[in-house]
Amino acid sequence: MKKLSDKEILEAYNELKEYWEKYLKNSGVKMPKLKNKNNEYTHAILALICLAHNYPNTNIISKDELTAFIRYYHPKTNDAQEGRHLGMQYGWFVSTGTRGEITEEKIPSGSYKLISLKQAHPSYSGERRTGIKTSDFEELKKEYGYRCAVCGSKEGEAHRIRKNCIVKLQEGHIDPTKDLISGNIIPQCQICNRPDRNRWIYDKNGRVTKVAPTEDGRRVVEDFLEKSDKKTLEALRAYIDKLL
Ligand SMILES: [Zn+2]
Repeated sequence: MKKLSDKEILEAYNELKEYWEKYLKNSGVKMPKLKNKNNEYTHAILALICLAHNYPNTNIISKDELTAFIRYYHPKTNDAQEGRHLGMQYGWFVSTGTRGEITEEKIPSGSYKLISLKQAHPSYSGERRTGIKTSDFEELKKEYGYRCAVCGSKEGEAHRIRKNCIVKLQEGHIDPTKDLISGNIIPQCQICNRPDRNRWIYDKNGRVTKVAPTEDGRRVVEDFLEKSDKKTLEALRAYIDKLL
């Protein structure tokens, strides 16, 4: 999809907002912000605009196409997750090929299609993203001393590694293939939560225990194998042989 001008983006945003107010707001669907604090378009709104292009005759959009569109505005983006997030976290009726959703049309794995702007995603309930009540999450954060379970950065303070970032704890998955509900949540800072979200399965202490059986998890393994030289692979094989 070609780059849109600011005017076109604004028009698309206003149109989406109209649908949202009329059909989706009451179902708890979240409207992405147009711009972030730095006055940049948010990834989520760009993804939604891309997916909703030509609505109701929307196309199947691959993750690469979605990433390419977002990259016009955020050149550093290399792996847009928003196609999936828009469905599962925001509640928009975006169908993905990976979740085995039943739609009339087969959507290939790693691709997305906006099905309707008049209906929330069938498996979305407004509760889903915030899997537990705010008060329960406060309690959970307290248990963890208000620190990120993964990196230990403390809420409201400068991040331990990214010093210019003030830590805000979020609900992170322990197992990303399961719902974000009580028992499957650890507090994670915004840095640990974002890129890792669907790659790993954690334990309660925030340690990675497994590669998640997701598309993102598979990519981690593939990347690793691709980048590893023969020697590393041989060493790994020897190590495994010794264990078994
Ligand atoms: Zn962290």
